[in-house]
Amino acid sequence: MVKFRIAVFAVLLISFLTSNSAIAQQPFLDSKQWTAIRDESNGASAYENLRYITTLHRVPATAGFELASQFILQRASEYGLTDVHSEQFEIDGKKQYGLMRSYLAWKVDEARLWEVSPDHLLLGDWRTDPIHLADYSHSAEIETALVDVGSGTADADYTGKDVRGKIVLADGVLARVQQIAINEHGAAGIVSDMPNQTTAWSGLDPTVVRWGHLDARQPSGFAFMVSKQTAEALRSRMRDHVRVILGAHVKATVGPGHWTVVSATIPGTDAASGEIIYSCHLDHERPGANDNGSGCVTILESARILSRLITSGKLPRPKRTLRFIWGPEVEGTMAFLATHPEIMGGLRANIHMDMVGGDPYKNKSVFHVTATPWSLPSFVTDVGASFLEAIQAAATGYAEGELTSDAGIVENRAGGSGTRNDLIGDVTPYSSGSDHDDFDSSSIAVPSLYLRDWPDIYIHTDHDTLDQIDATKLRRVALLGAASGYVYAMVDRDQLSSLLPFLTAQAEARIARSFGGAQQLASDPKVEPGIAWYNSRNFLNATLEREIETVRSLVDFAGGSNEQAAGGIKALTDHTSALQAAIDGRAKDRGASGRAPTAPWAKSEAAKRVPVRIGEFGPLTYQNDNVLLARLGKERYAKIKLVNSEATQLLNVRDQSELYAYEIVNFVNGRRSVGEIRDAVSAEYGPLPVDVVSDYLDACAEARVIQWK
Ligand SMILES: [Zn+2]
Repeated sequence: MVKFRIAVFAVLLISFLTSNSAIAQQPFLDSKQWTAIRDESNGASAYENLRYITTLHRVPATAGFELASQFILQRASEYGLTDVHSEQFEIDGKKQYGLMRSYLAWKVDEARLWEVSPDHLLLGDWRTDPIHLADYSHSAEIETALVDVGSGTADADYTGKDVRGKIVLADGVLARVQQIAINEHGAAGIVSDMPNQTTAWSGLDPTVVRWGHLDARQPSGFAFMVSKQTAEALRSRMRDHVRVILGAHVKATVGPGHWTVVSATIPGTDAASGEIIYSCHLDHERPGANDNGSGCVTILESARILSRLITSGKLPRPKRTLRFIWGPEVEGTMAFLATHPEIMGGLRANIHMDMVGGDPYKNKSVFHVTATPWSLPSFVTDVGASFLEAIQAAATGYAEGELTSDAGIVENRAGGSGTRNDLIGDVTPYSSGSDHDDFDSSSIAVPSLYLRDWPDIYIHTDHDTLDQIDATKLRRVALLGAASGYVYAMVDRDQLSSLLPFLTAQAEARIARSFGGAQQLASDPKVEPGIAWYNSRNFLNATLEREIETVRSLVDFAGGSNEQAAGGIKALTDHTSALQAAIDGRAKDRGASGRAPTAPWAKSEAAKRVPVRIGEFGPLTYQNDNVLLARLGKERYAKIKLVNSEATQLLNVRDQSELYAYEIVNFVNGRRSVGEIRDAVSAEYGPLPVDVVSDYLDACAEARVIQWK
């Protein structure tokens, strides 16, 4: 043991003396550039900026959001950014931005909920704790009985109960309770402990208050959010036949208004070479420290780092402009892009940060570099992934006592707010739920490096506080964001000779790792051998195609020629052929016949149709709008085989059908047939019957999002 320690020490000493070899494993920046960005990065400023933002209740199109945007404006100016301004986008519930309908604004003067009897108890006051009032609550002045309706989302919950003019206690999806209890059964309002965003830890802490969101397009109703503990206390009294009387007082209006988006740039040297855009979302309930104060202050810090280094001449000014925007989630991005087609047309890559500062030992978060979907393969993920690896190596080196706090990228300028922890993080496949969905979607097609914490046990609750945030992590993510954006803004032809071999090796490794999945598909005992063979080959083919496109995306970005990548692509193709041969052998063993498997959809006429996108740009689902639901109506929408019709409208549901739906539309390019689109999404998320894809695209055609060629 002693001997081993000495040996390790000797090796480390050598590596330390040869200048940061532990952290120089990424090929995209030279060590001078990397060190400059690293040393300029600062988690303390980001943390202090976050301190202010967490004092604001930042629901979109409200006074609190405006204060947050003014703060960002001021900081962006102080940091020396260019063209710092904010833009207002009109909203009235109808106006379209791309495919998305605008939502509504909300103004609250005051709101209080009292238990009047049997106890006299204040259950929530907007002025001190705005999270207690659900978003888009309307005015009310009422003293009435409380009725327990269970989840409150099914008609059966109301059988034998008179809720007219009363307040219901419910824990179901709030907008759905509003629809049934208020609109259909005449209740006055809602008290809710709806479990918003569940994780493995949900429910363990009954004191958290979760945020709630009514449907702003509904004409009436209010809701107060209480903790599970408070709700259970009310329920237990009602079970004991104690009559609970509540007094609700709300002065608020829902109506037309505007969204605000702050924008600032660091100009590049060549306007024709396009822009790199950083995004976050400035909205959400107070305190909203990790979701998403953290992303806002961290892109701001990436902006500060790059602005300072470029202005002082420590880094050469990149050819592409770096743009930073702060707006309401998804909606701000759509409004901004729809208003600025000239900017949208020149965007080359996006860096989106949504929850990036959680201390994993407090909120159980894991930091993820999230890949683009298979419909938009891009090297942007590889850039983020290799900086993540470099930072993790540095963090581990520091934690194990081998590196200084500078080299370990530890924030020690902000007292106790920066930890000495490792960076717990990984690279994951595409996951939906924020502005990157827009950028990655096929009619915008700007590949996004999506940086996020998940899970976070305090997400969307009053416990998402500054106390859960690690200034060291803010610094590391600001560094990752600044370094990645700088690479996107700088990368050019001269670097291809060193970057292409690196990228091809990454692609090679991913192809190798996909073989396990291919074998599983080929051996699936529930599937007929010929179809299993087809699914398996399809998976390998799509994997190869994704990796070829990844390599080509770099060549295209850097302005190189496809010839430069030809050798690497041939190697990837040969490698995949060898894997295919092994799969063919496995299929033959299972009794499959023929030289190649036939597509399960080969005989379907519907599968041969070719869809093409028409109309406005954008994906089909947004925070507060669902294009197919709005255009086709509830009844028709509920018949779409792929879509779960139950109450997903105002929820961020992370389920497979949403991912399939998103990618089916993304794979529509005017060349792929329905069958080929089925193959593409089946490779990405698992085999899907072709009629489900065909049925979904029929609905898209009815909604005039696509037409048949
Ligand atoms: Zn978020």
